[in-house]
Amino acid sequence: MAAFLPVYEPDLSGNERRYVDQAVTSTWISSRGEFINRFEDAFGQVVGNPHVSTVCNGTVALHLALHCLDLKPGDEVIVPSFTYIASVNTIIQAGAVPVFAEIRQEDWLVDPADVARRITPRTRAIMPVHLYGAVCDMDALHALARSHGLAMVEDCAEALGSTWRGRHVGSFSDVATFSFFGNKTVTTGEGGMVMARDADMLRKLTIAKGQGMDPERRYWHIAMGFNYRMTNIAAAIGLGQIERLDSILQRKRGIARQYRSLLSNQPVTFQRPRPEVESSEWLISLLLPAGVDRDAVMQRMAEARIETRPVFYCAHHMPHHRRPELSLPISEDIAARGISLPSYPTLTEGDVERICATLVDAIRASGPPR
Ligand SMILES: *Cc1c(COP(=O)(O)O)cnc(C)c1O
Repeated sequence: MAAFLPVYEPDLSGNERRYVDQAVTSTWISSRGEFINRFEDAFGQVVGNPHVSTVCNGTVALHLALHCLDLKPGDEVIVPSFTYIASVNTIIQAGAVPVFAEIRQEDWLVDPADVARRITPRTRAIMPVHLYGAVCDMDALHALARSHGLAMVEDCAEALGSTWRGRHVGSFSDVATFSFFGNKTVTTGEGGMVMARDADMLRKLTIAKGQGMDPERRYWHIAMGFNYRMTNIAAAIGLGQIERLDSILQRKRGIARQYRSLLSNQPVTFQRPRPEVESSEWLISLLLPAGVDRDAVMQRMAEARIETRPVFYCAHHMPHHRRPELSLPISEDIAARGISLPSYPTLTEGDVERICATLVDAIRASGPPR
Protein backbone atom coordinates (compact mmCIF):
# COMPACT_ATOMS: atom_id res chain seq x y z
CA MET A 1 0.00 0.00 0.00
CA ALA A 2 1.27 3.49 -0.82
CA ALA A 3 2.59 5.48 2.12
CA PHE A 4 0.23 7.98 3.75
CA LEU A 5 1.25 11.57 2.96
CA PRO A 6 -0.10 14.12 5.46
CA VAL A 7 -0.38 17.82 4.72
CA TYR A 8 2.32 18.47 7.27
CA GLU A 9 4.86 16.66 9.41
CA PRO A 10 7.63 18.41 11.33
CA ASP A 11 11.26 17.40 10.80
CA LEU A 12 12.75 17.02 14.28
CA SER A 13 15.96 15.34 13.19
CA GLY A 14 18.44 18.01 14.36
CA ASN A 15 19.37 18.92 17.94
CA GLU A 16 15.75 19.03 19.15
CA ARG A 17 15.93 15.78 21.13
CA ARG A 18 19.33 16.59 22.65
CA TYR A 19 18.20 20.05 23.77
CA VAL A 20 14.97 18.72 25.29
CA ASP A 21 17.02 16.15 27.17
CA GLN A 22 19.29 18.91 28.46
CA ALA A 23 16.28 20.97 29.55
CA VAL A 24 14.80 18.01 31.43
CA THR A 25 18.12 17.08 33.02
CA SER A 26 18.56 20.68 34.18
CA THR A 27 15.07 20.50 35.83
CA TRP A 28 14.32 23.93 34.27
CA ILE A 29 11.19 22.74 32.53
CA SER A 30 8.91 25.70 33.17
CA SER A 31 9.15 29.19 31.71
CA ARG A 32 12.65 30.00 32.88
CA GLY A 33 15.85 28.42 31.62
CA GLU A 34 18.62 28.86 29.12
CA PHE A 35 16.71 27.68 26.04
CA ILE A 36 14.22 30.55 26.25
CA ASN A 37 17.03 33.06 25.85
CA ARG A 38 18.91 31.02 23.29
CA PHE A 39 15.80 30.54 21.16
CA GLU A 40 14.89 34.23 21.37
CA ASP A 41 18.46 35.23 20.42
CA ALA A 42 18.56 32.84 17.47
CA PHE A 43 15.11 33.97 16.32
CA GLY A 44 16.13 37.64 16.60
CA GLN A 45 19.10 36.90 14.34
CA VAL A 46 16.88 35.27 11.73
CA VAL A 47 14.36 38.11 11.58
CA GLY A 48 16.95 40.86 11.97
CA ASN A 49 15.34 42.35 15.10
CA PRO A 50 16.40 41.55 18.68
CA HIS A 51 13.10 42.83 20.16
CA VAL A 52 11.42 39.43 20.34
CA SER A 53 9.75 37.49 23.14
CA THR A 54 8.48 33.92 23.28
CA VAL A 55 4.85 33.13 24.09
CA CYS A 56 2.91 29.88 24.37
CA ASN A 57 1.15 29.97 20.97
CA GLY A 58 0.49 32.15 17.96
CA THR A 59 -3.05 33.02 19.03
CA VAL A 60 -2.04 34.52 22.36
CA ALA A 61 0.78 36.30 20.51
CA LEU A 62 -1.93 38.12 18.53
CA HIS A 63 -4.01 38.80 21.63
CA LEU A 64 -0.97 40.13 23.50
CA ALA A 65 -0.04 42.38 20.57
CA LEU A 66 -3.56 43.80 20.29
CA HIS A 67 -3.84 44.16 24.08
CA CYS A 68 -0.69 46.27 24.09
CA LEU A 69 -2.20 48.69 21.55
CA ASP A 70 -4.62 49.79 24.33
CA LEU A 71 -7.68 49.45 22.12
CA LYS A 72 -10.95 50.84 23.46
CA PRO A 73 -14.45 49.39 23.04
CA GLY A 74 -15.72 50.27 19.57
CA ASP A 75 -12.26 50.71 18.10
CA GLU A 76 -12.00 49.06 14.71
CA VAL A 77 -9.25 46.81 13.40
CA ILE A 78 -9.22 46.06 9.67
CA VAL A 79 -8.45 42.42 8.91
CA PRO A 80 -9.01 40.17 5.89
CA SER A 81 -12.02 37.87 6.18
CA PHE A 82 -10.01 35.21 4.35
CA THR A 83 -7.70 34.24 7.21
CA TYR A 84 -7.24 31.78 10.03
CA ILE A 85 -9.87 32.44 12.68
CA ALA A 86 -7.37 33.45 15.38
CA SER A 87 -6.71 36.73 13.56
CA VAL A 88 -10.35 37.68 14.02
CA ASN A 89 -11.14 36.19 17.44
CA THR A 90 -8.25 37.98 19.10
CA ILE A 91 -9.49 41.37 17.87
CA ILE A 92 -12.75 40.74 19.73
CA GLN A 93 -10.87 39.37 22.76
CA ALA A 94 -8.96 42.66 22.87
CA GLY A 95 -12.27 44.55 23.03
CA ALA A 96 -12.28 45.87 19.47
CA VAL A 97 -14.39 45.27 16.37
CA PRO A 98 -13.05 43.39 13.34
CA VAL A 99 -13.79 45.11 10.03
CA PHE A 100 -13.41 42.68 7.15
CA ALA A 101 -11.52 43.66 4.03
CA GLU A 102 -11.35 42.05 0.60
CA ILE A 103 -8.27 40.26 -0.75
CA ARG A 104 -6.50 40.40 -4.12
CA GLN A 105 -7.19 37.75 -6.74
CA GLU A 106 -3.49 37.10 -7.45
CA ASP A 107 -1.97 36.59 -4.01
CA TRP A 108 -5.11 36.03 -1.87
CA LEU A 109 -3.88 38.70 0.58
CA VAL A 110 -5.56 41.81 1.92
CA ASP A 111 -6.13 44.46 -0.75
CA PRO A 112 -4.76 47.85 0.39
CA ALA A 113 -7.26 49.69 -1.82
CA ASP A 114 -10.13 47.94 -0.03
CA VAL A 115 -8.52 48.60 3.35
CA ALA A 116 -8.42 52.30 2.46
CA ARG A 117 -12.16 52.24 1.67
CA ARG A 118 -12.96 50.74 5.09
CA ILE A 119 -11.09 53.26 7.23
CA THR A 120 -13.45 55.22 9.49
CA PRO A 121 -12.86 57.66 12.37
CA ARG A 122 -12.97 54.62 14.67
CA THR A 123 -10.24 52.66 12.87
CA ARG A 124 -7.25 52.14 15.12
CA ALA A 125 -5.23 49.40 13.47
CA ILE A 126 -4.66 47.23 10.42
CA MET A 127 -3.83 43.54 10.69
CA PRO A 128 -2.16 42.22 7.53
CA VAL A 129 -2.02 38.41 7.43
CA HIS A 130 0.71 36.81 5.32
CA LEU A 131 -1.12 33.63 4.30
CA TYR A 132 0.66 30.50 3.11
CA GLY A 133 4.03 32.26 3.13
CA ALA A 134 3.18 35.08 0.71
CA VAL A 135 3.53 38.67 1.92
CA CYS A 136 0.93 41.46 1.80
CA ASP A 137 1.74 44.68 -0.06
CA MET A 138 3.63 46.22 2.83
CA ASP A 139 4.56 49.44 0.98
CA ALA A 140 0.91 50.30 0.40
CA LEU A 141 -0.26 49.20 3.87
CA HIS A 142 2.54 51.05 5.59
CA ALA A 143 1.71 54.23 3.66
CA LEU A 144 -1.96 53.89 4.67
CA ALA A 145 -1.14 53.30 8.33
CA ARG A 146 1.17 56.26 8.38
CA SER A 147 -1.15 58.70 6.63
CA HIS A 148 -4.11 57.77 8.87
CA GLY A 149 -2.14 57.38 12.09
CA LEU A 150 -3.05 53.70 12.44
CA ALA A 151 -1.17 50.99 14.31
CA MET A 152 -0.22 47.81 12.50
CA VAL A 153 -0.14 44.27 13.90
CA GLU A 154 1.32 41.85 11.39
CA ASP A 155 0.19 38.20 11.60
CA CYS A 156 3.32 36.37 10.41
CA ALA A 157 2.23 32.95 11.72
CA GLU A 158 2.61 31.41 8.25
CA ALA A 159 5.49 33.50 7.00
CA LEU A 160 8.63 32.78 8.99
CA GLY A 161 11.40 33.08 6.40
CA SER A 162 9.36 35.25 4.00
CA THR A 163 10.67 38.63 2.94
CA TRP A 164 9.37 41.86 1.36
CA ARG A 165 12.07 43.66 -0.64
CA GLY A 166 14.63 41.54 1.20
CA ARG A 167 13.42 42.48 4.70
CA HIS A 168 11.95 39.81 6.93
CA VAL A 169 8.19 39.99 7.52
CA GLY A 170 7.30 41.59 10.82
CA SER A 171 9.78 44.42 10.30
CA PHE A 172 7.05 46.80 9.17
CA SER A 173 4.75 46.94 12.19
CA ASP A 174 4.32 48.02 15.78
CA VAL A 175 4.07 44.36 16.70
CA ALA A 176 4.38 41.20 14.61
CA THR A 177 3.43 37.70 15.70
CA PHE A 178 4.60 34.22 14.79
CA SER A 179 3.29 30.70 15.49
CA PHE A 180 5.23 27.50 16.17
CA PHE A 181 2.33 25.06 15.98
CA GLY A 182 3.29 21.58 14.78
CA ASN A 183 2.55 22.33 11.13
CA LYS A 184 4.32 25.68 10.93
CA THR A 185 7.72 26.16 9.27
CA VAL A 186 9.41 26.06 12.68
CA THR A 187 7.62 24.27 15.51
CA THR A 188 7.85 24.06 19.29
CA GLY A 189 4.74 21.86 19.59
CA GLU A 190 2.62 24.79 20.69
CA GLY A 191 4.38 28.14 20.73
CA GLY A 192 4.63 31.63 19.39
CA MET A 193 6.70 34.79 19.31
CA VAL A 194 5.98 38.49 19.44
CA MET A 195 8.33 40.94 17.76
CA ALA A 196 8.24 44.62 18.66
CA ARG A 197 9.27 47.69 16.72
CA ASP A 198 11.28 49.03 19.69
CA ALA A 199 12.47 48.30 23.21
CA ASP A 200 9.56 50.15 24.84
CA MET A 201 6.96 48.03 23.09
CA LEU A 202 8.96 44.87 23.86
CA ARG A 203 8.97 45.80 27.55
CA LYS A 204 5.22 46.34 27.51
CA LEU A 205 4.64 42.96 25.80
CA THR A 206 7.00 41.15 28.17
CA ILE A 207 5.35 42.60 31.26
CA ALA A 208 1.85 41.76 29.98
CA LYS A 209 2.78 38.17 29.08
CA GLY A 210 4.06 37.59 32.64
CA GLN A 211 1.03 38.64 34.72
CA GLY A 212 1.87 42.32 34.47
CA MET A 213 4.65 41.91 37.00
CA ASP A 214 7.22 44.66 37.49
CA PRO A 215 10.51 43.27 36.10
CA GLU A 216 12.31 44.99 39.00
CA ARG A 217 10.01 43.90 41.83
CA ARG A 218 8.62 40.38 42.22
CA TYR A 219 4.88 40.01 42.93
CA TRP A 220 4.33 43.71 42.34
CA HIS A 221 2.02 43.98 39.35
CA ILE A 222 2.10 47.24 37.44
CA ALA A 223 -0.25 46.41 34.57
CA MET A 224 -3.02 44.07 33.48
CA GLY A 225 -1.43 40.80 32.47
CA PHE A 226 -1.71 37.19 31.40
CA ASN A 227 0.32 34.01 31.69
CA TYR A 228 1.35 33.63 28.06
CA ARG A 229 4.87 32.33 28.71
CA MET A 230 6.58 29.58 26.70
CA THR A 231 8.23 26.67 28.50
CA ASN A 232 11.97 25.98 28.39
CA ILE A 233 11.16 22.55 26.90
CA ALA A 234 9.29 24.12 23.99
CA ALA A 235 12.13 26.61 23.50
CA ALA A 236 14.61 23.73 23.42
CA ILE A 237 12.72 22.25 20.47
CA GLY A 238 12.51 25.70 18.89
CA LEU A 239 16.27 26.21 19.13
CA GLY A 240 16.90 22.87 17.44
CA GLN A 241 14.45 23.89 14.71
CA ILE A 242 15.63 27.42 14.08
CA GLU A 243 19.23 26.26 13.73
CA ARG A 244 18.06 24.41 10.62
CA LEU A 245 15.73 27.08 9.24
CA ASP A 246 17.82 27.66 6.12
CA SER A 247 17.75 24.03 5.08
CA ILE A 248 14.03 23.70 5.92
CA LEU A 249 13.24 26.75 3.76
CA GLN A 250 15.47 25.58 0.94
CA ARG A 251 13.67 22.24 0.84
CA LYS A 252 10.21 23.84 1.02
CA ARG A 253 11.08 26.16 -1.86
CA GLY A 254 12.32 23.21 -3.87
CA ILE A 255 9.04 21.38 -3.26
CA ALA A 256 7.10 24.47 -4.34
CA ARG A 257 9.08 24.73 -7.59
CA GLN A 258 8.47 21.07 -8.33
CA TYR A 259 4.69 21.39 -7.76
CA ARG A 260 4.53 24.47 -9.98
CA SER A 261 6.44 22.83 -12.76
CA LEU A 262 4.61 19.48 -12.66
CA LEU A 263 1.20 21.20 -12.63
CA SER A 264 2.06 24.02 -15.04
CA ASN A 265 -0.14 22.65 -17.82
CA GLN A 266 -3.08 21.87 -15.57
CA PRO A 267 -6.19 24.01 -15.05
CA VAL A 268 -5.13 25.01 -11.51
CA THR A 269 -4.09 28.44 -10.23
CA PHE A 270 -1.35 28.79 -7.64
CA GLN A 271 -1.13 31.69 -5.20
CA ARG A 272 0.97 34.32 -7.00
CA PRO A 273 2.93 36.53 -4.59
CA ARG A 274 3.96 40.03 -5.68
CA PRO A 275 7.43 40.46 -7.23
CA GLU A 276 8.77 42.11 -4.03
CA VAL A 277 8.11 38.86 -2.13
CA GLU A 278 10.22 35.84 -1.45
CA SER A 279 7.78 33.32 0.02
CA SER A 280 8.63 30.74 2.66
CA GLU A 281 6.23 28.46 0.73
CA TRP A 282 4.67 27.41 4.01
CA LEU A 283 1.76 25.49 2.45
CA ILE A 284 1.47 24.96 -1.28
CA SER A 285 -2.06 25.97 -2.12
CA LEU A 286 -3.93 26.25 -5.37
CA LEU A 287 -7.37 26.94 -6.79
CA LEU A 288 -9.27 24.19 -8.56
CA PRO A 289 -11.05 25.22 -11.73
CA ALA A 290 -14.59 26.55 -11.31
CA GLY A 291 -17.11 23.72 -11.63
CA VAL A 292 -14.86 21.07 -10.12
CA ASP A 293 -16.25 19.50 -6.94
CA ARG A 294 -13.60 20.25 -4.31
CA ASP A 295 -14.89 17.72 -1.81
CA ALA A 296 -14.80 15.02 -4.47
CA VAL A 297 -11.19 15.90 -5.37
CA MET A 298 -10.14 15.79 -1.73
CA GLN A 299 -12.00 12.50 -1.26
CA ARG A 300 -10.16 10.94 -4.22
CA MET A 301 -6.85 12.18 -2.86
CA ALA A 302 -7.72 10.69 0.54
CA GLU A 303 -8.52 7.35 -1.10
CA ALA A 304 -5.00 7.45 -2.57
CA ARG A 305 -3.71 8.08 0.98
CA ILE A 306 -2.85 11.73 0.32
CA GLU A 307 -4.15 14.28 2.79
CA THR A 308 -5.23 17.68 1.47
CA ARG A 309 -7.15 20.43 3.19
CA PRO A 310 -9.45 23.20 2.09
CA VAL A 311 -8.06 26.73 2.37
CA PHE A 312 -9.60 28.84 5.12
CA TYR A 313 -13.29 29.66 5.07
CA CYS A 314 -14.26 33.33 5.19
CA ALA A 315 -14.59 34.63 8.75
CA HIS A 316 -17.63 36.71 7.79
CA HIS A 317 -19.49 33.44 7.11
CA MET A 318 -18.75 31.95 10.56
CA PRO A 319 -21.70 31.91 13.00
CA HIS A 320 -20.08 34.19 15.57
CA HIS A 321 -18.63 36.72 13.06
CA ARG A 322 -21.44 36.67 10.51
CA ARG A 323 -22.04 39.79 8.44
CA PRO A 324 -25.01 38.87 6.23
CA GLU A 325 -24.88 42.23 4.44
CA LEU A 326 -21.19 41.89 3.54
CA SER A 327 -20.16 40.62 0.13
CA LEU A 328 -16.48 39.89 -0.55
CA PRO A 329 -16.61 38.10 -3.91
CA ILE A 330 -12.89 37.40 -4.31
CA SER A 331 -12.52 36.05 -0.77
CA GLU A 332 -15.62 33.92 -1.19
CA ASP A 333 -14.46 32.49 -4.52
CA ILE A 334 -10.97 31.63 -3.30
CA ALA A 335 -12.28 30.16 -0.05
CA ALA A 336 -14.57 27.89 -2.10
CA ARG A 337 -12.00 26.66 -4.65
CA GLY A 338 -8.67 26.47 -2.80
CA ILE A 339 -6.90 23.43 -1.45
CA SER A 340 -3.55 22.99 0.30
CA LEU A 341 -1.22 20.13 -0.61
CA PRO A 342 1.40 18.26 1.46
CA SER A 343 4.26 20.75 1.96
CA TYR A 344 6.62 19.43 4.62
CA PRO A 345 10.41 19.40 4.29
CA THR A 346 10.92 15.62 4.33
CA LEU A 347 8.59 15.10 1.36
CA THR A 348 10.59 13.45 -1.44
CA GLU A 349 10.55 14.29 -5.15
CA GLY A 350 8.83 10.96 -5.73
CA ASP A 351 6.13 11.92 -3.21
CA VAL A 352 5.48 15.20 -5.03
CA GLU A 353 5.24 13.34 -8.37
CA ARG A 354 2.72 10.95 -6.87
CA ILE A 355 0.65 13.81 -5.39
CA CYS A 356 0.57 15.69 -8.70
CA ALA A 357 -0.37 12.63 -10.75
CA THR A 358 -3.15 11.80 -8.30
CA LEU A 359 -4.42 15.38 -8.32
CA VAL A 360 -4.55 15.51 -12.11
CA ASP A 361 -6.65 12.33 -12.17
CA ALA A 362 -8.86 13.54 -9.32
CA ILE A 363 -9.60 16.84 -11.09
CA ARG A 364 -10.45 15.04 -14.32
CA ALA A 365 -12.78 12.68 -12.50
CA SER A 366 -14.48 15.42 -10.45
CA GLY A 367 -15.03 18.05 -13.12
CA PRO A 368 -18.17 19.00 -14.97
CA PRO A 369 -18.98 16.62 -17.84
CA ARG A 370 -17.15 17.79 -20.99
C1 LIG B 1 -1.38 29.20 12.97
C2 LIG B 1 -1.95 30.56 12.84
C3 LIG B 1 -2.27 31.37 13.95
C4 LIG B 1 -2.33 30.86 15.35
O1 LIG B 1 -1.28 30.19 15.82
P1 LIG B 1 -1.44 29.03 16.94
O2 LIG B 1 -0.01 28.83 17.34
O3 LIG B 1 -2.04 27.85 16.28
O4 LIG B 1 -2.25 29.58 18.03
C5 LIG B 1 -2.67 32.66 13.72
N1 LIG B 1 -2.78 33.16 12.48
C6 LIG B 1 -2.52 32.42 11.39
C7 LIG B 1 -2.68 33.03 10.05
C8 LIG B 1 -2.11 31.09 11.54
O5 LIG B 1 -1.87 30.36 10.46
